[in-house]
Amino acid sequence: MFENKKIFVLGMARSGYEVAKLLSKYNNKIIVIDKKEQDINHIEELEELGVSFIQSDDPLELLDSSFDLVIKNPGIRYDHPLILKAIELGIKVVNEVEVAYHFLPKDAFIIAVTGANGKTTTTTLCYEFVKAMGKKVHLGGNIGYPLSQIVNNVKSNDVVVLEISAQQLHDCYDFKPNVSILTNLVPVHIDFFGDYKNYIDHKLRIFMNHTNSDIAIINKSNTDSYESTKDIKSKKIYFSSNEEADAYIKDKAIYYKNEKIIDLKDIRVKGMHNYENIMCAIIATKELGISNEVIKEVLNKFTGVEHRIEFVAKINGREFYNDSKATNVKSTEIALNAFDTPTIILLGGLDRGHSFEDLRDDLNNVTHIVCYGETKMRIKEFSLSCNIDCTVVNTLEEATKYAYNISNPGDTILLSPACASWDQFDDFEQRGDTFKNTVNTLE
Ligand code: ADP
Repeated sequence: MFENKKIFVLGMARSGYEVAKLLSKYNNKIIVIDKKEQDINHIEELEELGVSFIQSDDPLELLDSSFDLVIKNPGIRYDHPLILKAIELGIKVVNEVEVAYHFLPKDAFIIAVTGANGKTTTTTLCYEFVKAMGKKVHLGGNIGYPLSQIVNNVKSNDVVVLEISAQQLHDCYDFKPNVSILTNLVPVHIDFFGDYKNYIDHKLRIFMNHTNSDIAIINKSNTDSYESTKDIKSKKIYFSSNEEADAYIKDKAIYYKNEKIIDLKDIRVKGMHNYENIMCAIIATKELGISNEVIKEVLNKFTGVEHRIEFVAKINGREFYNDSKATNVKSTEIALNAFDTPTIILLGGLDRGHSFEDLRDDLNNVTHIVCYGETKMRIKEFSLSCNIDCTVVNTLEEATKYAYNISNPGDTILLSPACASWDQFDDFEQRGDTFKNTVNTLE
């Protein structure tokens, strides 16, 4: 299917590089186009494999009917002029996941995770569960390791856990996971998809090739998820954090099919949203026969995915959590609701002119706000209007040290900034690392 072909890869980055490398082994003639400069080592490596790289922001004239296939980077819109031209010329457009899928052993067991929120956490949990079961498992997709990169390591009967974005589902046609998880649906990425209905339609493609022997894991209490999946052909298994479902929460414990799996107190990560992610991962891995003992063992240790309400340290009775991924107010609301201890929150960052008003009802446990970065003065104003003590500093390091100095044993010190990081950091990862490094210097 992907042999002896002439292939046009639009967009290099990681996935374009990996898919070109994969396909270069099958006697294909491949060109990779990107408007941005790329890693010179990657370009040289591709050239040694016979793949040409062309840097161009006007690739139209490079595409003609002699090509058999276009592989589009998921970040590129489907109304890009080159994609429209490919369609006009009758050239098939696919993405890297679809290509790599065809190279997996037919009996590999695929768990695919999509949804508006919680993808990375749920994907990681599934991976940790399967690994703890002692099975051979591979992690990939939108989580930093393109499927094309890992596919050659996958052997018969191995498990593959994939995070899949809505953008990646657009040009997938044959992709058929054994278990598909839809964590939840809320209106996001509307700039890319045009409207919410189109976004939902893309997400539902994770079930498109299912029959009733494949599993769909669905959030029963998320109306859009529940309603939009009514007609899918999969065997549906539901979870909910606030009503009875196949997996649900009762008496401060998670139940699955009426069997108690684990008490919430034995789970290290906090928050209803995390219990939902955990229920998804439990349902998926129960299909592989995971025991409750293994589930407990993993959840006793799992401190969350880095930068997402990640437990950092307990120092003199104060617990530090890093939620640097909270680049908007909604995520900070979720984080605040995950704690019932007195909390000192560190807020601030890039000023997009956004309001902090939505945090007002989530500040019940907040005893002090420490703010920094471009938004600090607007946060100060907001804190005063909420009657919450607030201290303004310049940097995250200062904010962390200050919070520790005024804290009491039993307090939580939470970085959940409700702002993007780019005023002072390269990205949220660098911001989270700075916080963790500072915490580690505290006595
Ligand atoms: P994604 O990969 O979909 O961006 P992550 O697992 O990286 O999701 O989590 C990012 C943030 O999204 C978390 O810090 C939390 O604020 C929020 N979140 C995580 N899981 C859920 C969930 N099940 N429901 C709602 N929000 C969630």
